[in-house]
Amino acid sequence: MKRQNKILFAGILSILVLASVQAFIIKGILNQKNEMFMLRYTMRSQEGLYFINRNLMTDGFDTVRLLLAPYSERAARELKLMNDSAEINKKKTEVLNYFTIVLNQEQNLSQFLSAYFEIRGYEKKFAFSIVLNDLDIITPDTIPVFHSGLGLQQTNVKSHILVNWFGMEDNNYKLRFEYFIDFSDQQKIILKESAAALIMSIFSIIVVVVIFITAYKNLMEEKRLSNLKTDFINNMTHELKTPLSTITVAGRTLELPVIISSEERIRETAKLIGKQSKHLNQLINMILEISMLERTPFELEKKDIELETFLNDIVDCFKTGEDKAVINKKFDLKGVIVKLDVVYFTTLLNNLLSNAVKYSDKAPIVMVESFASDAGVVVKVSDNGIGISKSDQKYIFDKFYRASTGNIHKFKGMGLGLYYVKKIAEAHNGTVLVNSQKGKGSVMTVIIPKQI
Ligand code: ADP
Repeated sequence: MKRQNKILFAGILSILVLASVQAFIIKGILNQKNEMFMLRYTMRSQEGLYFINRNLMTDGFDTVRLLLAPYSERAARELKLMNDSAEINKKKTEVLNYFTIVLNQEQNLSQFLSAYFEIRGYEKKFAFSIVLNDLDIITPDTIPVFHSGLGLQQTNVKSHILVNWFGMEDNNYKLRFEYFIDFSDQQKIILKESAAALIMSIFSIIVVVVIFITAYKNLMEEKRLSNLKTDFINNMTHELKTPLSTITVAGRTLELPVIISSEERIRETAKLIGKQSKHLNQLINMILEISMLERTPFELEKKDIELETFLNDIVDCFKTGEDKAVINKKFDLKGVIVKLDVVYFTTLLNNLLSNAVKYSDKAPIVMVESFASDAGVVVKVSDNGIGISKSDQKYIFDKFYRASTGNIHKFKGMGLGLYYVKKIAEAHNGTVLVNSQKGKGSVMTVIIPKQI
């Protein structure tokens, strides 16, 4: 596995572990809060019951008792007289239903409890449920005619809070039931109470994710730069080697008797050595200048320049090195004067021109345009070359960057030309923009403000 993949994997894994630990903790907190909520309301409702008993002298089931006494008496009598088991069962179901309905509809406990909660400033909106545990119907002569052991009917809703267990007895019935309450807002209240913990945990996950992404991006950027540097060293070696080997070979030929005997050939070889040394010198100077540029900012010597003449001179003096290259000019400057550093601006335009000629797979046709606009003076160099892909356009002004064109040595260079162009444009308070389409050519636009 590659190093960056390992780091990515480790990072994602640690974020996942962190997120699961957080989720586990949050789940624990929510469970605990849930239990605390239920405990709190169990205690509060029991307090409430005690308060109602003491102050209102009731348990909230008085009406229920009033209704159940005559009904159970009648039911006991009827059940005693019945023989048919189907009829008895039907009656028993009816009795159970009646008890359930009366208990649910005629009790006043919920009302009292809600009022009590309100007085105390607690949550007063709750739903109640009554669960019947045991019901016996007994005739006046104490004969049990119906026993329903309903057992402890567990409610399936987890959050039900048991307020109390009740037992009721009268001449003709014996009843046991449980009274539960349930808050529909319980989850909301718990979430609100746990909001701080929740927010903190989400925030900590976000912080870790952001830190990781930033660190990972930095690492990738470092890697990209280190790759660029390696490429640069390869390119530079390649570039320096060519003139050097020419000089070496030329030097050796000077020792040959055929050459020594011909003055003209000596002169030719010396010229070649001179040309190659000059090229070598230029390359070394360029590298030195770039490293100087890193340490000290540009020191421009700006002068008022009549732009049209200046541009004409540069373009006319530009040696394309390509016999078939055509360079056209279109200037609309009407004597515009701009403050420029002649040396640096010449380098800028030469770099653009040499790229326009170099990055071409057919006879290069280059157009140099210049005009004055509101933004400043615009100098455009367009070509019909190989173009630059959108993804490369982002980086071409970076130091050492060379667009990957398959065989990088097909087009010689060190990835410094456009970096230099950008630095020079910026030193003139200007900008440089690229507009290009792969296979169709490129347009490099330099904009320099007029009054600088
Ligand atoms: P170099 O030419 O030394 O590689 P530059 O900084 O001048 O470095 O250019 C950076 C990269 O931008 C080049 O490698 C090339 O891929 C691309 N590029 C620059 N100018 C052009 C152009 N006119 N047409 C196509 N590609 C270009």
